[in-house]
Amino acid sequence: MRAMRLFQPGSAEDNRLKLIDLPVPEPGLHQLRLRVHACGVCHTDLHTVEGEIHPPALPITPGHQVVGVIDALGAECSERFKIGDRAGVPWLYSACGSCEFCLRGEENLCPNAQFTGFHVDGGYAETMLAREEYALPLPAEISDVQAAPLLCAGIVGYRSLRLADLNPGEKLGLVGFGASAHLSLQVARHWGCTIFVFTRSVEHRQHALDLGAAWAGGIEDTPPDLLDRAVIFAPAGWMVPLTLGKIRPGGTLAINAIHTTPIPEMPYQLIYGERTLRSVANATYQDGVEFLHLAAEIPVRATVRTYPLTEANQALLDMKHSRINGEAVLMI
Ligand SMILES: [Zn+2]
Ligand SMILES: [Zn+2]
Repeated sequence: MRAMRLFQPGSAEDNRLKLIDLPVPEPGLHQLRLRVHACGVCHTDLHTVEGEIHPPALPITPGHQVVGVIDALGAECSERFKIGDRAGVPWLYSACGSCEFCLRGEENLCPNAQFTGFHVDGGYAETMLAREEYALPLPAEISDVQAAPLLCAGIVGYRSLRLADLNPGEKLGLVGFGASAHLSLQVARHWGCTIFVFTRSVEHRQHALDLGAAWAGGIEDTPPDLLDRAVIFAPAGWMVPLTLGKIRPGGTLAINAIHTTPIPEMPYQLIYGERTLRSVANATYQDGVEFLHLAAEIPVRATVRTYPLTEANQALLDMKHSRINGEAVLMI
């Protein structure tokens, strides 16, 4: 089977992923094997390829928004899935199930969590393995290409809105407008929120307005209202004080990023007034179940640009340079 693999991290401009032929993997204990149909391209993949975060071993096949059909079951699988079922594989590949975090239902914080396309090979490939307990059933009404962006950008965006304490009808700021923000916007609109979008890309501003944002501008601009809540999607720490300055007392700022540049020193006044600043660290299995249900009900429509598997390097580059509205999806 073919896979696009990372051997040596470095600039995405140097086409870091190499097309390799590998043996089809055999599923082990509690594992499913999927024939991959679609795999979303996430900023985390770019961070991995460019060496900003470090997988424990190389080479690795990235990709953690995987839609596929199960073609083999490993030993001791339950009856949750059967051969021929469609399933989605998110970033969380597995967690220990017994630590204090797992027992609290915060398995995304498990110190022994393993991540798809980081600790184990992911979906930039024709075939991959997943743990049956963490694979997500997909609503039938969502197509393969539409489901892929939901599995990280969508689920983590949904968790970000929750951790930003967003209530129906509130004023929400979205800072950066890529894959995750354009899906979060649709959920927030469904909840009757007014949305203000901050991005330097003129195309992304128009995309936000087309999807129903009330206002779109740059991070240096002042929106027409103070924000109740905001989520930063851009991996740029310098945006934190600028965004806090737009939030009302008692409001919340959540940072949805696995990696960000340092947050500069800032006056206490920006967070005084009982503002909350917090990070979002991927998502739990329950977030995935809830969000996919909601996405089918709203329905959430992902804006996608598709690429063949062999053009994964180009997809990463286009994402790096904000040349894509919504999300890049590899069709396999
Ligand atoms: Zn654990
Ligand atoms: Zn991701």
